[in-house]
Amino acid sequence: MGSIQTVLGPAEADSLGHSQIHEHLFVRHTPMADKNPALRMEEEELSLAELKDYRRAGGAFLADAQPVAAGRDALVLERLSRESGVAIMASTGYHLLGFYPESCWVHALDEEGLYRLYRGELEEGMLPWSADPARRPEEVTGVRAGLVKAAIPAEGAVGRYETLLRAAARAAAACGVPLMLHTEKGAHAPEAVRLCFGLGVPPEKLVVCHVDRQAADFAPHEAVARLGVYLDYDTVGRFKYHSDGEEAALLRHMADKGWGDRLLLALDTTAQRLAAYGGEIGLTYILETFLPLLAGAGFTPEERERFTVRNCRRLFAG
Ligand SMILES: [Zn+2]
Repeated sequence: MGSIQTVLGPAEADSLGHSQIHEHLFVRHTPMADKNPALRMEEEELSLAELKDYRRAGGAFLADAQPVAAGRDALVLERLSRESGVAIMASTGYHLLGFYPESCWVHALDEEGLYRLYRGELEEGMLPWSADPARRPEEVTGVRAGLVKAAIPAEGAVGRYETLLRAAARAAAACGVPLMLHTEKGAHAPEAVRLCFGLGVPPEKLVVCHVDRQAADFAPHEAVARLGVYLDYDTVGRFKYHSDGEEAALLRHMADKGWGDRLLLALDTTAQRLAAYGGEIGLTYILETFLPLLAGAGFTPEERERFTVRNCRRLFAG
């Protein structure tokens, strides 16, 4: 198996143990955080304490899903990884537009400009965080992104979102890295996935997130899985949506249907769920609570390892 791009440089995929595919560890201030204080996560010491706990509990790797200019700080992520011993992969790409101040350059670049920017972040280095959203930093850091994040709003990848998605998909295809799609409970996911296929992203490099915020109706899950892409189940421990028992029932159904090789687990953390920030569960929740729950529900050790180790390795380096 090949190597993957972490914030500390290339790492052998085979060396990765327990992995979580979609987390948020440290995020500089964004307009979204004014509306939702759970999105305030800019205490480096707290983020480090959280990661050290994760490492102690057996966590080896995670992907940070906050993209460029949406509060991501590449140099902080590099430091957090070095000091915690957790391998971290950073994201380029874009989030929902509410994460960017109106003056931000993200709103102005055309498809070609966005594509070149995302590709540069994967191949050369990420832009540093900048306190002035209107000014795009000229110098890049020496820290490279390893995946591309894209966001599909509830109305689908239309208007400005289509331009952003096209640029993100082209960059992922050109660099052979995964493209991770934020969705609103899977709304318009199949159309967005097909658009990405048309731009050269293969199904084995596509991850659809948040479909499991709705776990009662299996049909939307099956519709996405039939496209051959990965599903990131990141609503574990998010009780405003449903119980962990319902999450386990969804996993059981999808694995029994033959999609066990396409399921990934994460917590999609905010300050409200990071223990060091006073949150409810902590980054160790999958290791310490959810995997034991799956064991109790009859999932085999091999199945549990697939969801948290093998599928992630294959996605990044298969
Ligand atoms: Zn997220």
